[in-house]
Amino acid sequence: MFRRALLQLQQQGLSRCVVDRSSAQGAVIRLGGRRLVNFSSNDYLGFASRPELADAVRASIDAYGFGSGASRLLAGGTVLHRRLEKRIAAFKRAGDAVLFNAGYAANTGAIPALAGQGDVILSDELNHASIVDGCRLSRADTVVFRHRDMDHLATLLREHPGKRKLVVTDTVFSMDGDIADIPAIVRMCASHRAMLYLDDAHGTGVLGRGRGALAHFGIAPEPWIVQMGTFSKALGSVGAFVAGSADVVDWLRNRARSFLFSTALPASAAAASLAALGILGREKRTVGKLWENRSLLMKELTDRGFNPLGDTPIVPVIVKSVREASGLSAHLFEKGFYAPAIRPPTVAEPRVRITVSANHTEEQIRRLVQALEGWRKTQ
Ligand SMILES: *Cc1c(COP(=O)(O)O)cnc(C)c1O
Repeated sequence: MFRRALLQLQQQGLSRCVVDRSSAQGAVIRLGGRRLVNFSSNDYLGFASRPELADAVRASIDAYGFGSGASRLLAGGTVLHRRLEKRIAAFKRAGDAVLFNAGYAANTGAIPALAGQGDVILSDELNHASIVDGCRLSRADTVVFRHRDMDHLATLLREHPGKRKLVVTDTVFSMDGDIADIPAIVRMCASHRAMLYLDDAHGTGVLGRGRGALAHFGIAPEPWIVQMGTFSKALGSVGAFVAGSADVVDWLRNRARSFLFSTALPASAAAASLAALGILGREKRTVGKLWENRSLLMKELTDRGFNPLGDTPIVPVIVKSVREASGLSAHLFEKGFYAPAIRPPTVAEPRVRITVSANHTEEQIRRLVQALEGWRKTQ
């Protein structure tokens, strides 16, 4: 039965396979015996392979060992976990914060704790799959608004008077690389007394000089704004957090099932995240370099007649078909670049998704665009 279904996926060019590195994450990786310039990772600042993170991990293992042995409620956590929560609360200018084992666990745990049966969740149609799953688990009525369509959101908010409402959006959309209209969403939530849940997975470390989407727009956090984010992307570590008012965070510690019923992150994950926040605070130029590299990539692509999407270091190049997407990605692989094809059902329009990082060189970026141009000549 599954054999047939798999065959069908293969025939449509939609079967996926796991690819594993034999090197550290970074601008250059080893994959399948090849050395490739990597334009696929979310390691925007190159922190994943920084010695400061590895040193912090080694020191934490000496002090706390590796395994954590239980959930946070049963002393699975350490003082490093709590230090990281306080640090991230200050970083996001929130009352408090709570750690989760992954962004996926944060969204599937926190959203159902914040909205339930009889409530209404308003969710952008391009929100991350973990948000979609969190909404389903909540048993709230989930209504989807068209991507970044603020008129549609306003209409839907008006359609549910008297109900408790939660608006949920990615800050940076991971497949299109565009940014939510957060000022408009914040205004609407304020006037409809809705709570706002921001998934800042791709904004943390990237937008607002690293502080994330609210800082990018100069918006002060309110007690009704919940900021979720991850340590697993720009911060080069693993795990996630939800920051909000002290009451909201306390509620999550009591009710978020992925927090209650899952073993705590190892102390070394907290140590790595603390080290990453330390570098981010000290080293202002790295986030600047990320955006310089993004500008260079956009300029090179537009100068050569490509029409890249995105307002962030996520730069999708849309192509006509699944075949073209796979063909382009394979061509780039041949030329020594790793940039994956993104296909349905992940996205509606097939594309090659390029993510640029602070530690790419100008030459690597220029050569990538030359390889894209080379592919177009063969079409
Ligand atoms: C990656 C991502 C997540 C999941 O985070 P993990 O730490 O990888 O589980 C959640 N939301 C968004 C928008 C993401 O891009």
